[in-house]
Amino acid sequence: MQINKILIANRGEIALRALKTIKEMGKEAIVVYSTADKDALYVKYADAAICIGNPRSSDSYLNIPAIISAAEISEADAIFPGYGFLSENQNFVEICEYHKLKFIGPSIQAMAIMSDKSKAKQVMQRAGVPVIPGSDGAIKDVKFAKELASKIGYPVIIKAAAGGGGRGMRVVEKEEDLEKAFWSAESEAVTAFGDGTMYMEKYILNPRHIEVQVLGDSHGNVIHVGERDCSMQRRHQKLIEESPAVLLDEKTRQKLHETAVKATKAIGYEGAGTFEFLVDKDLNFYFIEMNTRLQVEHCVSEMVSGLDLIEWMIRIAQGEKLPPQESINLNGHAIECRITAEDPNSFVPSPGEITKYICPGGRNIRMDSHVYQGYNVPPYYDSMIGKLIVWDSNREKAIHKMRIALEQLVIGGIKTTRDFHIQMMKNKDFISNNYDTNYLSKH
Ligand code: ADP
Repeated sequence: MQINKILIANRGEIALRALKTIKEMGKEAIVVYSTADKDALYVKYADAAICIGNPRSSDSYLNIPAIISAAEISEADAIFPGYGFLSENQNFVEICEYHKLKFIGPSIQAMAIMSDKSKAKQVMQRAGVPVIPGSDGAIKDVKFAKELASKIGYPVIIKAAAGGGGRGMRVVEKEEDLEKAFWSAESEAVTAFGDGTMYMEKYILNPRHIEVQVLGDSHGNVIHVGERDCSMQRRHQKLIEESPAVLLDEKTRQKLHETAVKATKAIGYEGAGTFEFLVDKDLNFYFIEMNTRLQVEHCVSEMVSGLDLIEWMIRIAQGEKLPPQESINLNGHAIECRITAEDPNSFVPSPGEITKYICPGGRNIRMDSHVYQGYNVPPYYDSMIGKLIVWDSNREKAIHKMRIALEQLVIGGIKTTRDFHIQMMKNKDFISNNYDTNYLSKH
């Protein structure tokens, strides 16, 4: 199937990022936008732009009838979902199919397996993937949770099966705290995801978060595009990502890649996906979840592989075959810093007008951002306003390059996390790679 016109069902930096690839491939890019985003860059650059509603996400970027109508009016033949919003919504995929719109992503079946994180773990365990000891499926009540926790041993973590973005999760150190943690995690999950199904895992002390990027095509071919280390987190949310994960030795790295490829094949996965693992001090790795979509941090994998992952998502959707694993060469080191419109100390959102914007450039420096001087960061959406990505021949050089690039980045009028990242690039523990997912909560 040849795809000619793609509607981007998203906003912000990822809408602009996708638009570039679509145009580079000689295809037409249609964008949708809320009234709050009428001045966004991707609206200006698109072949056609259609307003789909009011600022609230439920009125616009989550408004399925409006998005489908926009696709029909513009005669798009495919939908690119990006991340967040409708990217993992099975109902949306089904409606796209009904309207003969190719959803650029996995099948409903693959999405369904991974959308319930506790069920996904069971499927992965059966496929021979190591998982963290915990509940076999959902935990029904506090009594059961207490019994299980004493069996697997404290500390434990209670997690929402529908979870994402670090929400609906509580670490429990001792039995007295379990009941309160259970109820507060559950109510957070109900509010955030409309689903209070909870499961439990052994809490891994001071782990690293390492994930593998995979691609699967409709001919049964699966390749990996290396791994990413996303251990620099705040409240279980990623702030800095790199590829490769230099913590791993060659043997473990290979085993991790093989495991991810095997898991991808086990579910007959098509498109781009990510297998997330926690890695303990002894380099044992455990599957935590699979993201059935493109991730924010995909850019570091692009920088070390030279592949355009969105191009490959589109080519897979067209029925093309993936290149062989042997042709994928992973070189050097890439780092990404997520720049958000937030106070660099408190991480409190700081929307408003950008009065000055100077973006660094140069060899192997990439800024994926939709903002410009005079742009007004709306208060309604995620506060990420860009991702600064650099590549160099090794980690030390990449950190140095990132620091210089950050120092040359100027965003005036609002507060951003630029200065936080500059501090991190000078941080001894970060430089010596001596940190874990809890680093920021301790320092
Ligand atoms: P989400 O889908 O909300 O991002 P994840 O399951 O991917 O949730 O976990 C996000 C982060 O939470 C991980 O990167 C890690 O820092 C922490 N985490 C999750 N499960 C555990 C666990 N069992 N032990 C220790 N940390 C965990």
